[in-house]
Amino acid sequence: MGERFIFTKYRTSCYNCGKEVDQVIKAVRAQAQVACSNCGATRIYIPRASEVGKPGLYTKIGCYDVWELLADAPCMNCCIEGPHDLVIGCSQFTTRCHNCGFTHFYKFNVEYIAQCPVPEK
Ligand SMILES: [Zn+2]
Ligand SMILES: [Zn+2]
Repeated sequence: MGERFIFTKYRTSCYNCGKEVDQVIKAVRAQAQVACSNCGATRIYIPRASEVGKPGLYTKIGCYDVWELLADAPCMNCCIEGPHDLVIGCSQFTTRCHNCGFTHFYKFNVEYIAQCPVPEK
C-alpha cells in the first residue's frame, strides 16, 4: 500500500473488541481497509467500480452502522488534493471527490483479526 490516497481515523466502538478506540481507515486504488487499533480486527474491501457520479450513488445498502466521514485526499481523477466523502458500512466503502465527483466503490471482501492473542498453555 505505498500509493497514498485515503488515510484517516474514526473513533468508535469496535464491533469485535467493543472498546471505543480509533479505527484506522486506509484506501488505495486496489483496496480499502478498516482496522481496529486495539484488537487488530480488520475489514478488507475490494474495488468494484469508479466513476464520476452524484452523491449517494452507491449508498443504498441498509446497514445498522454506516459511518459518514470527510477526509482530505489526492483525487485520482482531477488530481486536486481536497475533501472526499467517505461512506463506510458493513458491506461497502465509498469515496467521493468534492471537486469533480469522482467516486470509488469498494465492496466488502473479508475480515480477519491481525493480532491473535497468545494461546494459553
Ligand atoms: Zn477492536
Ligand atoms: Zn476529483
